[in-house]
Amino acid sequence: MTTVLGCIADDFTGATDLAGMLARSGVKVSLRMGVPDSPPSDTAAVEVIALKCRTAPVVDAVAETQAALAWLQAAGAQRFFWKYCSTFDSTADGNIGPVSEALMAALGTTQTIYCPAFPENGRAIFMGNLFVGRQPLAESPMQDHPLTPMRDSNLMRLLEPQVTHPVGLADRLTVAKGPDALKTELDRLAAEGIVHVIVDAVADEDLTTIAQACRDMTLMTGGSAVAAPLPALWLADGTLSPEATGTEIPTLDATAVVLSGSCSAMTRAQVADYTDRGKPAYQLDPLTLDRGGVQAALDWLAAQDLANAPLLYATAEPAAVRAAQDQLGTARAGEIVEQALAKLAVAARDQGARRFVVAGGETSGSVTQALAVTRLDVGKEIAPGVPWCFADSAGQRIAITLKSGNFGAKNFFAGALAALETA
Ligand code: ADP
Repeated sequence: MTTVLGCIADDFTGATDLAGMLARSGVKVSLRMGVPDSPPSDTAAVEVIALKCRTAPVVDAVAETQAALAWLQAAGAQRFFWKYCSTFDSTADGNIGPVSEALMAALGTTQTIYCPAFPENGRAIFMGNLFVGRQPLAESPMQDHPLTPMRDSNLMRLLEPQVTHPVGLADRLTVAKGPDALKTELDRLAAEGIVHVIVDAVADEDLTTIAQACRDMTLMTGGSAVAAPLPALWLADGTLSPEATGTEIPTLDATAVVLSGSCSAMTRAQVADYTDRGKPAYQLDPLTLDRGGVQAALDWLAAQDLANAPLLYATAEPAAVRAAQDQLGTARAGEIVEQALAKLAVAARDQGARRFVVAGGETSGSVTQALAVTRLDVGKEIAPGVPWCFADSAGQRIAITLKSGNFGAKNFFAGALAALETA
C-alpha cells in the first residue's frame, strides 16, 4: 500500500511510542529498525523509521534523517512527522532544529510546528514553556540527564540557537479558539516570516485542535501525542482509505519469554511483581557472566517449559548496578548483560518461544538485532506508548513488545501476556 504518512523518530523506544499512538486509530503502522537497505516494498499506510540520532553529531543526524526521508518518499509519503522526546531532549547544538531545517529544505516547505506535549504522560506546554507534571522542564529530573540535561524550560529559547530561521509561538489562547483560529495564526506568523512555530498544548483536546489545523502540513514535528489524532482525521476525509486499517494478528503459540535488562525503578517493581506471582525467574549478574559466560543461563532456559513464560533478568538495585560498574566499567557491564539477553532471546526462539516481552531501551535494541527483526507491524497498545508488535524472525512469526525503562504499570509483564490473548 502507498504510504500516506512517513515518520522519522530520533530513538528506538520513541519510535515504538509513536507507532503505538498512531496505531490507536486502527491504521496499519509498520516500524522499521533503521533505514531499510532495500527500496520500499510491502509498505503500510503509516511507516515509522527508528533512528538512533538524538545525541549524534549534527551532520550525522541530518544525513541519517535525510536517508530516512528519501526512503519514505520512495514509499509514496507526502506528509511527514519528525518525532523527538516529549521533554525536547537535545544538546545545545541540536538535533531537533537542524534536522527540522534539513527536512524542510528537502521538502521545499516554509513552516513547521513543534509540539512535544503529551498530557497523558504529564507533558504540557503553556506560553512556550514545557512542564513535566507540575514542574517546569528545567526544574524536573531532566535537568540532570546524563546526555541531554535540560536547563531551560522555554522551547523558543531552546530552539532558537539550533535553527537559522525565526522562531515564534502559537499560544494556548489561540489553540483554545479552535482549528480555524490556529490556522489563521499560523498563516499570520508565516506572513511575518516565522518558520518554526512552537504550539502550546495542555490537554488532549488541544492536540486534536492542532492536528485538525495542521493535517495538511507537509512536515509536523513533536512528540507522539500530537500525531495520534492524525490517522482518524485522514480516515474521515478520505486521505486514508479503509483498506489502510486492520493489522493482521497472527495466531501464535502461547510460548513466551520475558527478558529484562532495564534497571529503572518501574522495571524493578515489574520484575518483583512477576516473581511474586511465582513465575519461573533467573537472575543474570554481570560479574558472574563475565567470569563464567552465559551457559548456565542457557541451561536454565533449556530446562524451562515456555508455556510458563519464564523471566530472565539483569534488573538490579542501584547499589548492585554500581558495584558491577565499578568492577567492569559502565559500558562493559551493560554490554555483557545486553549480549547475554540477546543470546537468550535467540535460544528462546529456537526453543519455540513465539511471544517476547522485553524491558529496556538499549536491551530492546540488542534483542531485536539478535533476532534479526528489521520490521515490526504494530498491534494493540498494552500501556501508553507500548504496543504489541508482530515480526518475522528466522522464518517464524513472533509477537514482541519493547518497553523502555519507566513505561508500563507494576503488572506490565503479566498484563502484556494477557493482553496478547485479546490483541
Ligand atoms: P532503560 O530503558 O531502563 O534505560 P536500557 O536497556 O536502555 O534500560 O539500559 C539499561 C542498561 O543497564 C543496559 O545497558 C543493561 O545492559 C545495563 N544493565 C542491566 N542490568 C545491569 C546490572 N545488573 N549491572 C550493570 N548494568 C546493567
